[in-house]
Amino acid sequence: MKTIVEIPKTMNVLNLHEVGDLRLEKKETYTLTKNHVLVKIKYCGICSSDIERIFFNGTYNFPTIPGHEMSGQIVAVNDEDEKLLGKKTAIFPLIPCFKCTACKKEEYAQCANYNYFGSRCDGGYSEYLLVPKWNLVLFDDKLDYKIAALCEPGAVAIHSVNIGKITSGDSVAISGTGTIGMMIALVAKEKGANVTVIGRSKSSLEFSNRIGLNTLLNSDIENKTYDKVFEVVGNNESINQSIRLANDFGTVILVGNPKNNVELDKQIYWKILRKQINLKGIWNSSYNSKINDWKEILDLMSKGEIPFESLISKVYPMSKFENAFEYLKDSSEKKLKVMFKNE
Ligand SMILES: [Zn+2]
Ligand SMILES: [Zn+2]
Repeated sequence: MKTIVEIPKTMNVLNLHEVGDLRLEKKETYTLTKNHVLVKIKYCGICSSDIERIFFNGTYNFPTIPGHEMSGQIVAVNDEDEKLLGKKTAIFPLIPCFKCTACKKEEYAQCANYNYFGSRCDGGYSEYLLVPKWNLVLFDDKLDYKIAALCEPGAVAIHSVNIGKITSGDSVAISGTGTIGMMIALVAKEKGANVTVIGRSKSSLEFSNRIGLNTLLNSDIENKTYDKVFEVVGNNESINQSIRLANDFGTVILVGNPKNNVELDKQIYWKILRKQINLKGIWNSSYNSKINDWKEILDLMSKGEIPFESLISKVYPMSKFENAFEYLKDSSEKKLKVMFKNE
């Protein structure tokens, strides 16, 4: 084994023991195994899906360390992997079975029997993580760990824009003003699309305005339509509205995860038929030898032309996790990504 720092015997983690019971604890640090490296986690984003797991639905087993939006440094490797030592890396959080039909096609997001950091196995709310080499997405030295920790939602955004086949000149509407909605807007704009962010209140659109995106209030939509519409909320109102906003032969890209049953108004359903609207679903991202959304987003981040950093609202040490979740729950202030940081 080769290391760049001394690896402590125990590490700090945030461990979820049951719904609503997240604890700051010491745990034995991972021991290095074959085909793996040990990563010191620098930043880990708090995903809205983490909030669901921690406070409402739980993880697959208890206890589990949540967190799947990670960046870190490779601090311990097997002798044969010396060239990876010290490298900056993001981590693709899905560990496929490599055996099922989807895996054979390299469509790992559709794997029938996968493992996943932070939901099915321990994840990134942790000082260290043992990571299969296959899941490492190395990035440029000049890219900050903090921005790189946005790369999981960023990969979803790239994936959505690619599935939507966004090209220069497309008119694009985004229904939703959260982190992924904002990232889709920024990436689509970078590809030359005319992007409009649609929100229900002035305050929800404030951030979009600040970073130079066109915005429109729900109440001002009238008869406007767009070539491509991204639905990034997942509720009835937004899904119905997104379909209504599509042009003839337009495309609606469904990104938001619904919390409840989805109902379409009859008039909206008719629009799908009459306008021959394409509905496309988005799940996760592509990470294979042909398409790698992770590399694409990290390259875009390295270029430094898109103001990704402005999407990070606040960073907390793991020891202040209660404050982080309180801040996220406080609805009086519009916030995007909140992250944990390890020293
Ligand atoms: Zn996420
Ligand atoms: Zn599989």
